[in-house]
Amino acid sequence: MTAGRNNILKLSDIKLIDKHKRKLNYLRISVTDRCNMQCIYCMTHENITMLPGSEILSYEETLRIAKVFTQLGVSKIRVTGGEPLIRKGICDFLIKLGKLDGLSDLSITTNGILLKEKIEKLKSAGIKRLNISMDTLKKYKFENITGVDAFDKVWESIMTAHEMGFYPIKLNVVALYGINDDELIDFARLSFSYPFHIRFIEYMPIGTSQLVSRQLFATEIKSIISSIGPLIPVEKSTFDGPAQRYKFENAKGEIGFIRPISEHFCGSCNRLRLTASGNLKTCLLSDGQTDLKTPLRNGCSDKELAEIILKAVYDKPLEHPLASNCATVISGDMCNIGG
Ligand code: SAM
Ligand code: SF4
Repeated sequence: MTAGRNNILKLSDIKLIDKHKRKLNYLRISVTDRCNMQCIYCMTHENITMLPGSEILSYEETLRIAKVFTQLGVSKIRVTGGEPLIRKGICDFLIKLGKLDGLSDLSITTNGILLKEKIEKLKSAGIKRLNISMDTLKKYKFENITGVDAFDKVWESIMTAHEMGFYPIKLNVVALYGINDDELIDFARLSFSYPFHIRFIEYMPIGTSQLVSRQLFATEIKSIISSIGPLIPVEKSTFDGPAQRYKFENAKGEIGFIRPISEHFCGSCNRLRLTASGNLKTCLLSDGQTDLKTPLRNGCSDKELAEIILKAVYDKPLEHPLASNCATVISGDMCNIGG
């Protein structure tokens, strides 16, 4: 039964469940497709077309959509991009987002450049957990990977976040041969010095980024870093995503593996994505998406919006095409979709 067909039914009575019986309670919102970095695996250095400003959802529109999602049972929201911290007014937006009824967890993913200057406001917005992208611990490599000489700034942001008590701080490392495969052990060792969660992410071939030949899978990473000691599995907790979690004995932090390619987690996927342009993507790595912006701008009610969302969610693909070898590259832009 859907919301519009029964006026007695409240939105909060309906839950987001797809036809494969997966419960969807986690929404990632990309608030901008713009970025102050150009990471080699995310934005290729040429031919990037940005959305016109008018095509990007306003904060009011995003809040309205997010409210419908929380009424339908979404309890976790992560704000991402592009780089979320470059959008004007982001902290005030996060404060409003954090006040939505039913939301128990609000977090952001950032490249860290602007984190230090915004960190006080982020804390007051109720953000406790941060994901920060950090693909190298070597200053000289940082610019080659990201296009920007900002290693010190990002590292300072990480340290400030740590000193201010943000926990957990997850460091996202996209592992690539010839780029950072020589640093896997250094990253793993960081988990002894700091309570960081080091998350090795398998590269996903999205858009025009062509690094498939450099793809490094979790089993190889695991085997390399196991040379410093046995990895002890960590029990899953409430806010766990798909990461397979481990710890070295006596380490303060953890090691996680995100394996969208080598051991896809489609069967237990609880994620939805709202793109900067106002489309709902029920699967990051599948082409389909549902336009929420047009009906919203045409004046639809919350119930009508909920109807559209429920239908799209019901049809969430069982698995992504890379998992079944139906595709080798996925179209779209990671920065619009939101990683
Ligand atoms: N700008 C922010 C950042 O970099 O943390 C947030 C947006 S970024 C798209 C979100 C995450 O997606 C980052 O951790 C990034 O490393 C990851 N990512 C981007 N492109 C990827 C790719 N092709 N494969 C795997 N992860 C990717
Ligand atoms: Fe920007 Fe994040 Fe993409 Fe890097 S991964 S280009 S920081 S959006």
